[in-house]
Amino acid sequence: MTQDFAIEISNVWKIFGRRAPEAIEDVRANGISKKQVLEKYNCVVGVADATMSIKPGEIFCVMGLSGSGKSTLVRHINRLLEPTAGTITVNGQDIMAMAPDALRRYRNEHIAMVFQNFALMPHRSVLDNVALPLEIRGVSKNQRMEIAERTIEMVDLTGWGNKFAHELSGGMQQRVGLARALAADPEILLMDEPFSALDPLIRRQLQGEFMGLAANMKKTTVFITHDLDEAVRIGDRIAIMRDGMVIQIGTPEEIVMNPADDYVADFVAGISRLKVVRAHAVMQPLAEFEATHGALAAQAQEFPEDAHLGDLITAAISTDHPAAITNTAGERIGAITRADLLRTVIEGTETS
Ligand code: ADP
Ligand code: MG
Repeated sequence: MTQDFAIEISNVWKIFGRRAPEAIEDVRANGISKKQVLEKYNCVVGVADATMSIKPGEIFCVMGLSGSGKSTLVRHINRLLEPTAGTITVNGQDIMAMAPDALRRYRNEHIAMVFQNFALMPHRSVLDNVALPLEIRGVSKNQRMEIAERTIEMVDLTGWGNKFAHELSGGMQQRVGLARALAADPEILLMDEPFSALDPLIRRQLQGEFMGLAANMKKTTVFITHDLDEAVRIGDRIAIMRDGMVIQIGTPEEIVMNPADDYVADFVAGISRLKVVRAHAVMQPLAEFEATHGALAAQAQEFPEDAHLGDLITAAISTDHPAAITNTAGERIGAITRADLLRTVIEGTETS
C-alpha cells in the first residue's frame, strides 16, 4: 500500500513547562497568546497548531527565524519530543501509538537525523562514526565497514576513513554527519540546519552536493533552515514558521510570487527571482497576447512553461521577438515579451 503522504503533522502543539496541560486547555477555550501562556502559566509555546503533509521523496524545507519552533517541530517526527496536543503519522501510522520495540526499530531503521553541530564522536575514526548506526542495528563488522566505505565515497571523503573526526574541517565533518545518516539507508532524513555553521562558500558547495545526492536517493527529507535562499535552492516545498505557527506552505515559486504576509515578504525581498520564477507565472495567455500584439511570430523561440526566468532573460538578450511558451504537449499557450521579463525582475526588487 502506498500512502499519499510520508509524514502528516496535524494540529501539533508543543508547550514547554510543568503546567502545559492547563495552558493548552486555556489556549483551546480562550485562544490565549504565546505571551499570555508565559505570563499565566510560566510555559513556553514551542509549536502552535502546526499542520503539514510531506510527500514521499520530497525535500520539504521548514524555514523561520531563530526561535520560531523549527527544531521543536522536527524533533516530534522521530519522537525525541512528544506533542502537547495533535498527531504525527508516518506512512499512515500514528507514531505516538508505537510500542517501545516498534519505536526503537523506527528510529534505528526508518529515520536518521543530521545536526547543525555535526554531533560526531571526535575520537572515533570517520569510518567508525559512519558505521555507528549500523553497529547499533547489529550489522556485522565486515558488512558495516563495507557500507561505511561506500557511503564515505558518496560524500566525497574517499581516503579520509581512518582519520579521527576531529581532524577534519567543518565542511568535511558535516559530510561525515551526512554519511552517517545515509549509511543506515533510512526512508526519512531529518536535517536540522545542517549547513548553517559552515562558511558561505562551503555551505553552497555542500548544498549543491546534497541536491545531487538527493536527486538520486529520493528520500523523504525534512530540511530545516533559517535561510530562505537555501530553502528556495533546495526545497520542493517550503513551510514558513513564525512564533511556533506555520504561516505559509508552498513551492519556492508560490512563496516568492505570493508571500502570505509582511513577515514572509521581508524574507522574499532578498531572493533572486531568476532561478525561482518560471515561465507560466509570467506569460500572457496566447489569446490575450495576440489580441494586443498581433500573431506570435512562427519563428519565435519556444520555451516550456516550467522554464526559469533566468533562461528567458538570457534568450531575450539576443532577440527582439517575444518568446513562445509551450505546454507539455508542445502546443503554444502563451508569450513573454521583454517588458514582461523586466517587470517581473523589478517587482522582485522594489518590495524592500
Ligand atoms: P528554532 O529551531 O526555530 O530556532 P526552537 O524550536 O529551538 O526554535 O524553539 C522554539 C521556542 O521553544 C523558543 O521560544 C525556545 O526558547 C523554546 N524551547 C525550545 N526548547 C525548549 C525547552 N526544552 N524548554 C523550554 N523552552 C524551549
Ligand atoms: Mg533550531
